[in-house]
Amino acid sequence: MTQKTSPAITVVWFKRDLRLQDHAPLHYAASQSAPVLPLYLFEPDMMADPHHSDRHWRFVWQSLLDMQQQLNAVGAAMHVSYDTAADFFTRLASKYQHITVVSYAETGLACTYQRDQQLTRLFKTLGIVWQEYSCSGVIRALSTRRHWLRNWQDVMTAPQQTTALNSMHWLTDLSLVTRLPKALSHPLNRPNNAMQTGGETHAHETLQSFIHSRHQHYHRHISSPLKSFNSCSRLSAYLAWGNISIRQVYQAIVIPGSKLPASLRAFVSRLHWHCHFIQKFESECEQQFRHINTAYAAFPYRDDDKSAQHLNAWQTGNTGIPMVDACMRSVSETGYLNFRMRAMLVSFLSHYLLIDWRRGVQHLARQFLDFEPGIHYPQFQMQAGVTGTNTLRIYNPVKQAQDNDPNGDFIRRWVPEIAHLPNEDLFGPWQMPPIAQLSLQQPIPQRYIAPVINPEEVIVKHRELLWQWRERDEVKHHAKRIIARHSNPSPR
Ligand SMILES: Cc1cc2nc3c(=O)[nH]c(=O)nc-3n(C[C@H](O)[C@H](O)[C@H](O)COP(=O)(O)OP(=O)(O)OC[C@H]3O[C@@H](n4cnc5c(N)ncnc54)[C@H](O)[C@@H]3O)c2cc1C
Repeated sequence: MTQKTSPAITVVWFKRDLRLQDHAPLHYAASQSAPVLPLYLFEPDMMADPHHSDRHWRFVWQSLLDMQQQLNAVGAAMHVSYDTAADFFTRLASKYQHITVVSYAETGLACTYQRDQQLTRLFKTLGIVWQEYSCSGVIRALSTRRHWLRNWQDVMTAPQQTTALNSMHWLTDLSLVTRLPKALSHPLNRPNNAMQTGGETHAHETLQSFIHSRHQHYHRHISSPLKSFNSCSRLSAYLAWGNISIRQVYQAIVIPGSKLPASLRAFVSRLHWHCHFIQKFESECEQQFRHINTAYAAFPYRDDDKSAQHLNAWQTGNTGIPMVDACMRSVSETGYLNFRMRAMLVSFLSHYLLIDWRRGVQHLARQFLDFEPGIHYPQFQMQAGVTGTNTLRIYNPVKQAQDNDPNGDFIRRWVPEIAHLPNEDLFGPWQMPPIAQLSLQQPIPQRYIAPVINPEEVIVKHRELLWQWRERDEVKHHAKRIIARHSNPSPR
């Protein structure tokens, strides 16, 4: 039997909050006399979950290395283990007598919710105390949105929780570190220059470059799939994995007494949306599995073999619709896509292919480096048009290309097989008359002459169906419930 040692320890359990500053649990731990164990768990169940892919774990790994760099300076070490939370804490409890675990409350997927329920029961039997902190103004078990906005403002303007790492009492019992399995450490260590690198340092550099110069064309370039790479903040992955807090970003931009340019005002409203959407998911997490407007349960989505082929074409960027394919190939390579093009991909799936959004939601989660369940699910449902509360937006992929990639640079970059087409034919090559095709030096690949669907033809029928559903009494009835549950009442 192992002898229990040290009377008390505090474990700071990092999850999607991979930073060392403005971190409430760490700040609390620093105020205690017990030695502090900074912990990250690579949990096998989470890693096997189909929303995640190597790119996420690599970003997490890079974030941990960044934290480790900072901890080196104060003689401390991150404790990283490949373990289920239940096994890890059971082992820990066999060694230490009084354990307090501090962490942020996670607004996660069903798998993290179930883990948390299991842990609550386990901690009770092991005598472990678990203190959870709310994250960015998102409140657990919120019954009304009446005071939510005011509370969010209070959280954003409250002083940051700065922690003096060098005056903390760290637990340096390195025997707790488990080696990561080879199969895991290989993809983690493989660099990928096409994607953003995780870590607190990179997060702050990205924020500074946005504030100093990149924000200037923010709202002019926000819908351009190419220009958004530079003109949008690119903070989403850092926010999703907690390399920087929303409050740190907010306070770096909103300086009391000074007027913000329009670009930064537009940006700050999105920081609010970030938390608003997560609160929505926190308050109704069933959204992971069903339409938020349950009246859509019987919507006649396609479910035949052909739809499976079309889904595959959408996922792999081989639909034959240039803008759809360019977006899918780009996000697969870079992990990033701007808002408008994400919305267009979902619209194409749900409105043009008439495929249930649930069949595509995990695929895009795996592609987005910034995958954040609390934003991803509500946004996916909104763009698929199954809320009944928002205007139905059907994004025509040809028009989106003409408006947001007028010179075709983005499409040519990602769909090189049609790069030789003149601009007027690049966005919808199937419309090119056969006689005009004869004058091309290189033929158009068959896929772009006969795409999986003809968008102009199918959308006429689908638009009518979608609007008919939108106008149903049952849809409107459920929409009222959604608005009452999830919208912030006006101050009056
Ligand atoms: C179908 C779909 C799925 C999405 N999934 C995610 C996701 O998993 N994770 C994610 O962070 N964003 C998601 N978004 C929202 C948005 O597309 C991204 O936040 C944004 O493109 C990230 O780029 P940026 O950091 O340069 O954004 P900026 O325009 O610079 O915005 C700054 C921050 O505000 C937040 N934000 C911006 N737009 C939105 C929005 N519409 N809703 C909520 N928050 C927003 C993000 O945290 C973002 O980092 C999704 C949008 C759609 C349509």
